[in-house]
Amino acid sequence: MPHVIDASICSSCGVCAETCPVEAISEGPDSYVIDAELCTDCGSCAAECPSEAISAE
Ligand code: SF4
Ligand code: SF4
Repeated sequence: MPHVIDASICSSCGVCAETCPVEAISEGPDSYVIDAELCTDCGSCAAECPSEAISAE
């Protein structure tokens, strides 16, 4: 199961995108978004998000 970003919580700070080792995170229209096809479920982004907007689906 890939990790997902809660758009209602994400502040679009960009920390997760810098943290992701496989570049699965990019800026979307309303929040940063995770490409489920690329995510390896490592958990780094969830650990680094200052808003705790990322969780395992
Ligand atoms: S680190 Fe958290 S708040 Fe920042 S862009 Fe990523 S999901 Fe959004
Ligand atoms: S769980 Fe790991 S691979 Fe998936 S989006 Fe977060 S940092 Fe990237």
